[in-house]
Amino acid sequence: MPIYEYQCRACGHQFEYLVLPSSSAPECPSCHDQDLQKMISLCAVSSEGTRQAHLSSERKKYGKINREKQHEEHKMLHEHHD
Ligand SMILES: [Zn+2]
Repeated sequence: MPIYEYQCRACGHQFEYLVLPSSSAPECPSCHDQDLQKMISLCAVSSEGTRQAHLSSERKKYGKINREKQHEEHKMLHEHHD
């Protein structure tokens, strides 16, 4: 059975939650809030994968901004010739 570690975003309480097929959404045992941050496990492979996924999503985000900026500049070139 997978045990996940969560931190409650509302009160900061950290707890482990055993996920059962029949269990409902986890909630904080302290304040019963369901706004939880899932803690990253201590597995080195999974944290490396997470970091790479994060980097590639950052790259995608900036790539999109650059394309939009280029598009704006291109538009200006066309609008400002006389
Ligand atoms: Zn809480």
